[in-house]
Amino acid sequence: LFITFEGGDGSGKSTQAELLSEWLAASGHVVVRSREPGGTDVGLELREIVLHSRGHISPRAEALIYASDRAQNIDTKVRPAVERGEIVVQDRYIDSSVAYQGAGRVLDAAEVRGISVWATEDFRPDLTILLDLDEAIGRERLDEVRTRFDRLESEKSDFHARVRAGYLALAGAEPERFLVLPATDSIESIAAAIRERVSALL
Ligand code: C5P
Repeated sequence: LFITFEGGDGSGKSTQAELLSEWLAASGHVVVRSREPGGTDVGLELREIVLHSRGHISPRAEALIYASDRAQNIDTKVRPAVERGEIVVQDRYIDSSVAYQGAGRVLDAAEVRGISVWATEDFRPDLTILLDLDEAIGRERLDEVRTRFDRLESEKSDFHARVRAGYLALAGAEPERFLVLPATDSIESIAAAIRERVSALL
């Protein structure tokens, strides 16, 4: 089983991915955690490049680095684990690229998806949980907890509004794969809704 978490910065993806992983592990499943960018050793180096080059990397170069990170993550970590019957719980996947590099950076969404489909040999998630969040609230939440948002100052709110709209369009197009939850609900009620949906897949 391959479960991905999506949403804007500050939507609580990592918190919920952790809670789900703990619950699955406590129920006796072998759980593998991953994230993009940076789920593997090679991916961590690519993550450094892509995050530090913000503002001066070309959108196509950026899209290719994300796709490269994704290829390494799927080939060496995710696919082998799923084939062993383990459950992979991952922060971000192809939908992030379609939303950020496509809708956000205004590359062609179908082309952005296309390079990731090639990179992953069309490896698909069984379930994608989208934590939908108004970007202004996400920004406030992040400001409260950390300073890393500094590097995003160049990204104006219209960028995040496009990302959010991009995500919602993806979810609308594949409602059977997506579970969309309002990120402003309580941590516990979001976690419960996720557990209920995942239970149906086990
Ligand atoms: O989810 P995480 O915080 O690790 O993501 C790191 C940064 O990379 C975030 O600011 C996110 O907006 C960005 N990102 C992106 N395109 C992707 C994946 C992540 O711009 N495909």
